[in-house]
Amino acid sequence: MQNLKSKEALIKLFNNQQKNQFYVGNSTYKQRLKKLNVLKKAIEKKYRTKIQEALYADFKKPFTETDLTEIYPIISEIKHVKFHLKSWMNKQRVATPIALLGASSYVKYEPKGVCLIISPWNFPINLTFSPLISAIAAGNTVIIKPSELTPNTSHLMKEIVEELFDEQEIALIEGEIETSQELLKLPFNHIFFTGSPSVGKIVMKAAAKNLSSITLELGGKSPTIVDKTANIKTAAKKIIWGKFINNGQTCIAPDYILVHQTVKSELLKELKKQISNFYSNNPAASSSYCRIVNEKHFNRLKDHILKAKQSEASIELGGNFNKDENYIEPTIISNLPINSDLLQEEIFGPILPIISFQNLNEAINYINSKEKPLALYIYTKSNKTANFIIHNTRAGGTCINHNIIHYSNHNLPFGGSNNSGIGKSHGFYGFQEFSNKRAILKQHTKGSIEFLFPPYSKLKQKLINFTIKWL
Ligand code: NAD
Repeated sequence: MQNLKSKEALIKLFNNQQKNQFYVGNSTYKQRLKKLNVLKKAIEKKYRTKIQEALYADFKKPFTETDLTEIYPIISEIKHVKFHLKSWMNKQRVATPIALLGASSYVKYEPKGVCLIISPWNFPINLTFSPLISAIAAGNTVIIKPSELTPNTSHLMKEIVEELFDEQEIALIEGEIETSQELLKLPFNHIFFTGSPSVGKIVMKAAAKNLSSITLELGGKSPTIVDKTANIKTAAKKIIWGKFINNGQTCIAPDYILVHQTVKSELLKELKKQISNFYSNNPAASSSYCRIVNEKHFNRLKDHILKAKQSEASIELGGNFNKDENYIEPTIISNLPINSDLLQEEIFGPILPIISFQNLNEAINYINSKEKPLALYIYTKSNKTANFIIHNTRAGGTCINHNIIHYSNHNLPFGGSNNSGIGKSHGFYGFQEFSNKRAILKQHTKGSIEFLFPPYSKLKQKLINFTIKWL
């Protein structure tokens, strides 16, 4: 994207989409449905194996995990949208106050226009096509910029998009960070960004220049609280699944555990047992355990482990790595110094720190001393404890007695809060994010407000007094 020609090509593409936006925006329910069906069929049938192969080539993601975390979420999102789209596209009638007698009102969800989707590498298919589904449903034109860190998958997505859609409507541009930067200079009507909080700030700054609206799906440290009443065995099983799926490279993975000290050793025992159940005693040879995406991220995680080893922390399990394969062993660490990087930065890898607490307020104060997380998980048998935690913390989403699966309920909004994100996605929330809620009021008869037009008089003042008091 360094040369002028490429820049010009982007501007031309943007201008063409801008010209085309009313044609796309005025598409009917059936036309939008057709586009969603075409995408569904391609992902479910023609490209499913190619997607599995591309993700395996990018970071040895197991085929089954690709089915579960990339194919299934897209197919189920499309099914959900197809089921509801007609009603979402209808006029949403709202009440009109009596002071506006003679008028009726409704909200029309109109397309925002030309949208930009910038997606990350960790679930590239899911996190590119999921916002695309919402954008199509809402009637927008879209330019997509996927991550450069999973080149096989990004290239395949380009092939899919080019086969299915006219570029004046939906286009995918591969490229490095410079490509994102060039795209961010353009006056998009909406920017949907998924990635890190630090790049989120760059996107927000760029969006401010054009007053483009934004959705920021960001990350952070998602805590897991294990209360003394929790079923430790099932908690451990779910935590290990949530943490090590995708090799810990999941925005809503449990980043660290806060466990009541009376159940810490039991939890540790169960966590270790579950790792061995899922990935055997030699995870390097397990076909269910994928790899770190690249050398840079491998080195970042390796340094975390080396620093922990040099500190007073206890490596409870794992701690080994293999540079040739970008392999990091499933690792559990306790007694980390409070200021260690592992307790400060989003881990985004297969390292699980454990911190113990004596009373719940300690755990809550610890969470509240950090940025608002994208997710917060609670394992407890006590509703009172779960409610106490929910009322005294803030987070984008929460599961009680589970983790990460709230992502799969399309009836729930998905997203963070402040540092972990701005705006929501999935289902109706995603459709809303790509729509302008246009307020429409129609006057049918002579309205009561007309009695109050100038010139003002004593009678009109009395009517206004009446209106203020009674209507
Ligand atoms: P990233 O922020 O490094 O990159 C995301 C995208 O932004 C990529 O397409 C990249 O090309 C582009 N980009 C990177 N630097 C840029 C810059 N300076 N200017 C413009 N564009 C730039 O994130 P990542 O490493 O791909 O993904 C990991 C992060 O994403 C983690 O923080 C994770 O928690 C978060 N994440 C959040 C969600 C969510 O739904 N909330 C989902 C997945 C990942």
